[in-house]
Amino acid sequence: VSHPCKVVLAASIAKALASEVHNDLAKLSRKPHLHGYLANKDPAARMYADWTGKTCRENGFDFTLHDVEREDLEDELRSANHRDEIDGVIVYYPVFGSERDRTLQWTVSMYKDVEGLSPQLISNMYQNIRFLDPPFNVQKSILPCTPLAAIKILEHLHVYNSFLDYGKRLFGRRITVINRSEVVGRPLAALLANDGAEVYSVDVTGVQQFSRGSGLRRQKHETKDLEGWGLEQCLPISDVVISGVPGETYKIPTNLIREGAVCINFSSEKNFDPDVKERASIYVPAIGKVTIVVLLRNLVRLVQNKPEESGV
Ligand code: NAD
Repeated sequence: VSHPCKVVLAASIAKALASEVHNDLAKLSRKPHLHGYLANKDPAARMYADWTGKTCRENGFDFTLHDVEREDLEDELRSANHRDEIDGVIVYYPVFGSERDRTLQWTVSMYKDVEGLSPQLISNMYQNIRFLDPPFNVQKSILPCTPLAAIKILEHLHVYNSFLDYGKRLFGRRITVINRSEVVGRPLAALLANDGAEVYSVDVTGVQQFSRGSGLRRQKHETKDLEGWGLEQCLPISDVVISGVPGETYKIPTNLIREGAVCINFSSEKNFDPDVKERASIYVPAIGKVTIVVLLRNLVRLVQNKPEESGV
C-alpha cells in the first residue's frame, strides 16, 4: 500500500545548506581554517574527526587535526585562542568523560568556538540574545551545532512559516523533543520556544513545557513542569516530534503520533519504528550530515565576526 509520507534524507538538506554556505564563503577574503583537537582513543571520535576534515576540504575550508595527550589539551586550547591563523576550534568529546570536560568547553574562546558551547554563547541562546555587539547587531552569536541543525531542517521543510516575522515563525506549532541533554535536547527546546513554538521537552524524569506564553508575550521562553504528563499527552497534539534517545531498544509508540506529524530522529539509533511512515507526513531518519554543514556555517560566522571582515 502506498502512503503519502515523504522520507527526507539529511544529505539532500545538507546540500541545500552547503550552497548557502558557499555563497557566504565566496565573500570572505580568505579560506577559513578549522583546527580539530582529538585527545581520546575512541574510534568513533576519530571517525568523526576524519569526516569533519573530509567535509571541510570538499567545501573549500582548511582543516588541521591535532592528536594531543588529554593532560596537555587545556594548554593547547589556550594557545589556540591566541593564534590568529586559527579561525575555529572543535574538540572531540568525551575527553575525560567527567565534569572536567566542561572546563575544556569553557577554555575555548567564544570567538573560535564553532560548536557554540562557550558559556557566553549558551547564555545568549537561552536569553534569546542573537548578537554579540548590541546595539550595532553586526556580530551574530553562535548557536550549538546539533540543535541548530534540527532548526535548519525545520526551515527546509517549511515548518518555519516564513510569512510570519523573524523570531515568531513557529507560532502555533506544538513540538515534542524527546531528550533533554545539555548539549542537544534542552538548548533545542529553548530555541524552538524562543521562535514561538510550544515545546514539550521529554526525558527520563518527565515532561517540561517551554513556551513564551499566550500571544508570545514574553521575549524569551519560560519553563514549567507538566506533572503527570508523558508521551500519551504530548504526542497526539504535536505537529512535530524530534527524538534523540541513545540505545537501540527505545522505540516511540507509533500509534500515539499525530497523523501527518513531521518526525525527526537525531539519535544514532532508530527511535522511530519503520511503521512511522504510515503515520507521519515527513520523516527524517538521521541528521548528522546537516550538523557538519552547520559547523561550517558557524565557522564562516566566526570569520565574518572578525573586525577586518565585518568592517566594525
Ligand atoms: P545523553 O545521554 O546526554 O542524553 C540522552 C537524553 O535522552 C536524556 O535527556 C535522557 O533523559 C533522555 N532519555 C533517555 N532515555 C529516555 C526515555 N526512555 N524516555 C525519554 N527520554 C529518555 O545523550 P546526547 O549527548 O544528548 O545524545 C543523544 C543521542 O543523540 C545519541 O544517540 C547521540 O549519538 C546523538 N547525537 C547526534 C548528533 C547529530 O548531529 N546527529 C549530535 C549529538 C548527539
